[in-house]
Amino acid sequence: MSTIDLNFEEELKTFCENTALACFNCGTCTAVCPLVNDNFPRKMIRYIQVGAKDAILENANELYKCLHCGLCTHTCPRQADPGEIILGLKRFVVANWRRS
Ligand code: SF4
Ligand code: SF4
Repeated sequence: MSTIDLNFEEELKTFCENTALACFNCGTCTAVCPLVNDNFPRKMIRYIQVGAKDAILENANELYKCLHCGLCTHTCPRQADPGEIILGLKRFVVANWRRS
């Protein structure tokens, strides 16, 4: 069962410049992402907003499909910088693998 960690948004700041709270879930980043993959990267940002840390770890393989093309960041109307957030999530996942 997945749990919610209300401190996760703050924790992620140690891994990147976390601007997830600026996101208003418009979906533009998902529309332009060449991966065309099940609401990526918007889904990951939503997980951060609601503290769904386990869901991010369970779907970590999706993070490694990111091409780092920067299209999501370039088109985000809220300067939420999803590209930087995806990088931070990858660092977070690697750090958690080391601890486990
Ligand atoms: S484009 Fe920006 S504001 Fe829109 S869903 Fe993606 S991260 Fe959020
Ligand atoms: S940087 Fe990654 S998440 Fe953003 S549009 Fe490119 S492939 Fe998609």
